Amino acid sequence: MEIFTISGYEEVGRNMTCIEVSGDRIILDMGIRVDRIMIHEDIDISKLSKEELVKKEIIPDDSYIHTAKAIIISHGHLDHYGAVSLLASKYHAPIISLPFTLELCKMEKVKNDLYKIDYGDIIQIGRNVSVEFVYVTHSIPQTAIVVLHTSEGKIVYACDFKFDDTPTLGEKPDYDRLKEVGREGVKLLIVETTRIEEYGRCPSEKIIYHMIENIANKLGDKGIIFTTFSSHIERINNLIQILNKKQIDRKILILGRSMERYLEAAIESGLIDIPENVSIFGKYEQIVNILKEVRRKKDKFILIVTGHQGERDAVLTRIANGKLPYKIEKGDEIYFLAGTIPNPLNVAQKYTLETKLKMQGARIFKDIHVSGHAYREDHRDLIRILNPEYIIPCHGDLKMISSYVELAEEEGYRLNKDIFILRNRQGKRIE
Ligand SMILES: [Zn+2]
Repeated sequence: MEIFTISGYEEVGRNMTCIEVSGDRIILDMGIRVDRIMIHEDIDISKLSKEELVKKEIIPDDSYIHTAKAIIISHGHLDHYGAVSLLASKYHAPIISLPFTLELCKMEKVKNDLYKIDYGDIIQIGRNVSVEFVYVTHSIPQTAIVVLHTSEGKIVYACDFKFDDTPTLGEKPDYDRLKEVGREGVKLLIVETTRIEEYGRCPSEKIIYHMIENIANKLGDKGIIFTTFSSHIERINNLIQILNKKQIDRKILILGRSMERYLEAAIESGLIDIPENVSIFGKYEQIVNILKEVRRKKDKFILIVTGHQGERDAVLTRIANGKLPYKIEKGDEIYFLAGTIPNPLNVAQKYTLETKLKMQGARIFKDIHVSGHAYREDHRDLIRILNPEYIIPCHGDLKMISSYVELAEEEGYRLNKDIFILRNRQGKRIE
């Protein structure tokens, strides 16, 4: 078998890997790099050609891969599926994923056939390869550890995952199946490394559930705004359900284009129900109109909005900049159900947003967050469960990937013998 590391092996973002087994080629993920979009925010990305997007390192450079039997998308984060509308069509291959992720692909108007897989199904792709999705938790619903059963052994693609044993939407990870796969024998593990430098195990989303409960018990009587990741359906759903249960005399408004998009996909695929007192508005004109109504009686509404990182066009950023008809006043409460993504641009952007909101009189509650990625000891658990013959770490910069290698060496692996550091656009043959 041969592994082509198209991108995502030097950065967090634009994940794309190609596997070749006895002539059958399969693509795993097709993502964009979100922080690169921020760097080029003076340019309208939607007007750039594919070539320019590759040159700016926003999308993968797959120009040297020409054919594939299938494109497998592990989950619906932009760094895993965000480039499908630009790159998938040349392959004339079906996109295989779980229903929620396929809903998101549909919104991208891809021309490829969409092929739905459920957890536990094993789908034959080529003569020598079949694929299985194993249930795992993450910070977006319907994430899978992908298992490729091939004539040359099993390849496990764990990118991304979290081991949350007390999730608040869906089940705990399917450890039984993972253990079984491990017993059957794994040739190669390709694994993310995003939070490898965090010690211990990643805390459960249940913690955030309890924190939201505490927040809901102590809400003030002025304007209230929550912001979080639009794709974090579990957290948004918990927030809505907790507020709804409290029977607070306020209507809940969810505002922002990506909020609408992800929630629509979640509703369409039957993951959540939206209570009656919740309305969702995605279009700019709709948001302006509803906020004109809200501003006269802010104490009758709770807003859940985009903009937790201070993204330029998001609702909270526009509010802070006075570009929407909602004025922050003394005593208004703003809850960030998110951490700060630690790249310098983002840190600066978030600082600007928070400072502006504070200067306008808001009370800021921030860093209400747990990660969606495995920590160091979760990674050790996965190695022990699967006991793979070879490992290729990915989804990180060189520092993260090296840190993973150190962990694997503690588990008996040796660099360049059975664990390999690969950079983007390299190939590795495994016998
Ligand atoms: Zn992810």
